[in-house]
Amino acid sequence: MATKNLPFANMDSALHPAGRLSLSRATVTLAVMLVVHGLTKSYAGPRPRAVFAGVDMELAPGDYVAVMGESGSGKSTLLNLIAGLDSTDEGSIKLDGTELTALDDDALTALRRKRMGFVFQAFHVLPYLTVAQNVALPLSLLGVAGSEADARVAGMLAGVGLSERGASMPRELSGGELQRVAIARALVHGPQLVLADEPTGNLDAETASQVLSLLREQIKANGAAGILVTHSRVAALTCDRILQLTLAGLRELTLQ
Ligand code: ADP
Ligand code: MG
Repeated sequence: MATKNLPFANMDSALHPAGRLSLSRATVTLAVMLVVHGLTKSYAGPRPRAVFAGVDMELAPGDYVAVMGESGSGKSTLLNLIAGLDSTDEGSIKLDGTELTALDDDALTALRRKRMGFVFQAFHVLPYLTVAQNVALPLSLLGVAGSEADARVAGMLAGVGLSERGASMPRELSGGELQRVAIARALVHGPQLVLADEPTGNLDAETASQVLSLLREQIKANGAAGILVTHSRVAALTCDRILQLTLAGLRELTLQ
């Protein structure tokens, strides 16, 4: 593997114990990193409604999968469940052997900060922080500061082609550049899992295509696994596998 593509080769080891294993010469291959089994979700109310049932998914480090489905099919709900932001009715979500459905809110928050990165349709870049400060946020939440944080932020900004824009304010950037900031922020702390929810929904086709290439490249370069939620065929085709979410769970899709 070309380490020059890994700006922070030892970032994992700083952030989670599993990463330490991968630094030794006797590399331990963790075959499966995320295992979702029998996930079922419905929303209560006067007319309770099932969103989906029996969702199964397995991701290994380096896997990048698309989840497609009609609007309202539960794609965002599925990401929220995997992120531990919403509660499941039934089923299991294991990240590196840790059962997420058994954790309390504090433990989930800690795990999310350390091991996950997020990219959203609406960018969610904070308007009153500079580009570099936005990218540094996940690090400061983990107590990583000073020159180590600066080096990581600089490496990520270079990775997304924004080396010159660290001191800019978000309002000075285009939509595509803002989403590149969000990608840098999603990966700066070396998360195992990157969750992207319609990340190109607000971008024109050409910018979307650049952002999608960059997202894939950065996920792969950082050795993360990624889930890209999208209703776009073009976007889904940038992933290794495409899954379709239905009421009855996920099924493999083949697009030409
Ligand atoms: P998608 O992202 O695929 O468009 P969502 O996951 O946002 O779909 O929503 C799936 C379904 O669950 C929709 O019918 C939506 O209205 C419903 N839903 C989502 N969040 C809630 C909530 N907090 N309370 C009740 N219903 C919800
Ligand atoms: Mg959605």
